Amino acid sequence: MRLFKYTVSMTCKLYFGMGQTLVLNASYEPLNITSWRRAVILMIKGKAESLEEDKTYSIHSGKKLPTVIRLRYYVKVPFREVSLTRKNILLRDNNSCQYCNYRGSDLSIDHVTTACLRCNVQKGNRTPEEANMPLKRRPYRPLSNLNFEATRQIDSGKHKEWSKYVIGVAI
Ligand SMILES: [Zn+2]
Repeated sequence: MRLFKYTVSMTCKLYFGMGQTLVLNASYEPLNITSWRRAVILMIKGKAESLEEDKTYSIHSGKKLPTVIRLRYYVKVPFREVSLTRKNILLRDNNSCQYCNYRGSDLSIDHVTTACLRCNVQKGNRTPEEANMPLKRRPYRPLSNLNFEATRQIDSGKHKEWSKYVIGVAI
């Protein structure tokens, strides 16, 4: 019941996109992103410890809102490689042509990178060097949904403290 009371009082403050917690495996690998409520429940049950906190919010008896928690037990996760699908490539490239930054709905995929139709035709079958069309950014394997979402939240300034734990994110 006490937890319910905190939940109610915190919900008002945290309604606007805050209150998400990064969950790490016992090995410190990011596992998922959960609500602060679920994070607090895991901590109360003794299943997780808090690593990072939002000092501006108290939950109870001096405890602060957890923004990163680590499970006390190891969860086995099967290795999942993110596939190079059209959707994942567009998401990685922020839906913009990697040659001219054009953004629109009529983008195409040129090998492993996003290109607008004009650039795709201009480049043809040549390499970016041969066509003298440098890429704005070197293509890399798309991030998992978790990494993508974590990166988005870190970049937006909402959870800068997550960057310590999410590999491949540079600030
Ligand atoms: Zn273009």
